[in-house]
Amino acid sequence: MDKQTLSFQAEVKQILHLVTHSLYSNKEIFLRELVSNASDACDKLRFEALDKPELFEDAPNLDVRVFYDAEAKTITIRDNGIGMSADEAVAHLGTIAKSGTREFMNKLEGDQKKDANLIGQFGVGFYSGFIVADRMTVETRRAGASPEEGVRWSSEGTGDFEVETITRAERGTDVILHLREGEEEFLSAWKLKSIISKYSDHISLPVLMPKTKWDDEKKDTVATDEWETVNKAAALWTRSKSDITDQQYQDFYKQISYDQEAPLAYTHNRVEGRSEYTQLLYVPAKAPMDMWNRDKRGGVKLYVKRVFIMDDAEALMPVYLRFVKGVIDSADLPLNVSRELLQESRDVKAIREGSTKRVLGMLESLADSDDAEEREKYARFWSEFGAVLKEGIGEDHANQERLAKLLRFASTAAADSSQSVSLADYVKRMKEGQEEIFYITADTLSAAKNSPQLEIFRKKGLEVLLLTDRVDEWMLSHLYEFDGKPLQSVAKGGVDLGKLQDEEEKKQAEATAEAFKPVLDKLKETLKDRAKDVRTTTRLVDSPACIVVDEGDMSSHLARLLKQSGQAAPAGKPILEVNPEHALVKRLDGMENGNSSFDELAHILFDQALLAEGGQLEDPAAYVARVNRLLTAA
Ligand code: ADP
Ligand code: MG
Repeated sequence: MDKQTLSFQAEVKQILHLVTHSLYSNKEIFLRELVSNASDACDKLRFEALDKPELFEDAPNLDVRVFYDAEAKTITIRDNGIGMSADEAVAHLGTIAKSGTREFMNKLEGDQKKDANLIGQFGVGFYSGFIVADRMTVETRRAGASPEEGVRWSSEGTGDFEVETITRAERGTDVILHLREGEEEFLSAWKLKSIISKYSDHISLPVLMPKTKWDDEKKDTVATDEWETVNKAAALWTRSKSDITDQQYQDFYKQISYDQEAPLAYTHNRVEGRSEYTQLLYVPAKAPMDMWNRDKRGGVKLYVKRVFIMDDAEALMPVYLRFVKGVIDSADLPLNVSRELLQESRDVKAIREGSTKRVLGMLESLADSDDAEEREKYARFWSEFGAVLKEGIGEDHANQERLAKLLRFASTAAADSSQSVSLADYVKRMKEGQEEIFYITADTLSAAKNSPQLEIFRKKGLEVLLLTDRVDEWMLSHLYEFDGKPLQSVAKGGVDLGKLQDEEEKKQAEATAEAFKPVLDKLKETLKDRAKDVRTTTRLVDSPACIVVDEGDMSSHLARLLKQSGQAAPAGKPILEVNPEHALVKRLDGMENGNSSFDELAHILFDQALLAEGGQLEDPAAYVARVNRLLTAA
C-alpha cells in the first residue's frame, strides 16, 4: 500500500482538539495509557495463541520496552503483542468504536480542572500521547502476518493521519512520541522509571528499560544495550494466598500506605459472581493525623485488570471505614472509569458492600478471637478508630447490628477507664429485673463518672456505660436498642428502675414527695424562668439536686455540643430534680418564698446542678456572689 492520507472521524478530531488544547495537569498519564495498550496487546496475543501457537513466531516471551532518544526527542513504547494490520490501524487509531463519547466530551468541555486524567473517561487512551507529542508514529505488524505486511501510521494529531506499508521483521507495535517543545522533562530515564513504577508496577508483564551507565565524556548517564525490568511485574494480589508470606503482605502494605508500622490485620480474597474482583484490604495500627476530616478520601487504590486507575477511590468504601488501606482490582469496570462513574456504578456498589462485609469480618475475628493477643489488637484498633467506626451506626443501617457488637465503652463496672466493655458484656451482667441498658453522656470521663445522676445506680449496683466521644450523641440517635434491650440515658425522664425498686422504697418516696409539695411549688415559682419543672427524685443519694431533660428532649450534653459547633440548639428548659433527704434541700422547707435567702438557695441549687453535669453558667459572677453571701451569713 502506498502512502495514504486519511481524515480522522469527527469525534476523534474533537477529542484531539481537547487533548492538545485543554489538558495541562497530570500529563504523565500518557505513559500509563500506552503501556496499558501494550500490555493489552500482549494479552490478546496470548489469547489468540491458545488456538494458534504459531502466532508466537518462536518469541514467546512477551514484554513491553520503553526507551528514549534525547537527540531526536522521541520516546518509544514497544511491545511484541498482537500488532495491527493496515485495516486495523486505520479503524482502531482513526475512529472511536465506543458509544457515549459525545457525552463525556461535553463534560470535559465544561470542566475547569483540565486534568489529563479525564482522558480516561473517553476510553481513548491512545490519543493521550498527543498531550506531550506533536507527532505520533506507530509501526506495527500483526502476529502471523509476513514482514512485508508491516504498517506505519503517523499523525500530528490534527485533522488527518497517514498510513503506508512497511517491512517490519518483528511482530508487535512501536508507538513513537515526538515530543513537543517544552516537554523535554520526559527525556529522562529516572522520570520515565518513576512514572512506570507509579502506574504500572502491577501490570503482570515486565516493562523493560535500557540499563544506564555513567559516561565520563558526556558527563551524563547513557543507555547501554542491556535491559532491566523496571516494574514489579507481579501484582501481589493476583497471586494465590498460599504463595504469599506474611512478610510480603506487610511489605506491600508499607509500600502502598507509607506507614512504617505493620498493619493490625488484612484480608485477601478473590470474589466471583455477578461482580468479579480481588480485594486486599488492611486495617492500620495507627490513625493518621487527618482521621477526623470526613472529606478525606479513602485509602483504597482502584485497579482494573491490574492497571492502576486511581488512588483514594472513596466510592469503594463507606466513609466510616475511611481508615482502611489496600487495593481493589476489578475485572468488570472499564479501564477508563472516572470518579463520577464510580459513584453511579452498580458494580462499584457491589464491591463496596462486599468489601464492607470483609472489613467487619476482619474486625470481628480480632474482637472475638480466643487468642488474647488478637483481642489486644482489637483494643488497639478501638482506641485508634473506635470513634470513626461509631459513625457507621448511623450511616450503615444494613450493618448496624454487626457494628453494635463491635462497639466498646467505658463503664462504671470496668476496672480502668479505657473503652473496653461491649454491649454484650453489659447485657450478660444485667441485674435480675433490669430491662434497660443505662448510659450517661458527658464531655469528659470524670464528669461522667462523678455525675450526681449515677448515685442511685451506684447504690443499687447497676452498671452504667460512660460515653464521652463527640460522636456518641449522634450515634445514640440511631441506636435504640441492643439484643432487644432499649438504651436508656440516666439523665433523661424520671428514674424508673421498675422492678429494681422495692415496694417499700416506692411508698416512702411517694410520701416524701407529697410532704415536700409546698416547697416544690415555691421552687417552681422562683425558678420559673430557668426550669420547666421541679420535682423530687430518688435518683440522688449524696447530691442535693441534678438537671434532667424530658424523655423526648435533646440532652443538655448534645445541646452544648451543637452550640460549640456554632449550630442552633433548641432553647428548651431542663427539669430540676431535688433530693429531699439532703440537708441543703431540707433547709428550704423552713423558709418562706419571696424571702431572699430562699431565692438565693434555690438559684444556687440550680446552678450547682448545672455545673455538676458539665454545663456552663450564664452568669457565673452572680453565682459566685450568691455563694459568698451564703458563706458569710453562715
Ligand atoms: P482502548 O485501549 O480503551 O481500546 P485506546 O485508545 O487506548 O482505547 O486504543 C484504541 C485501540 O487501538 C485499542 O483498542 C487497540 O485495538 C489499538 N491499539 C492501541 N495500541 C495498541 C498496541 N500497542 N498494539 C495493538 N493494538 C493497539
Ligand atoms: Mg487503551
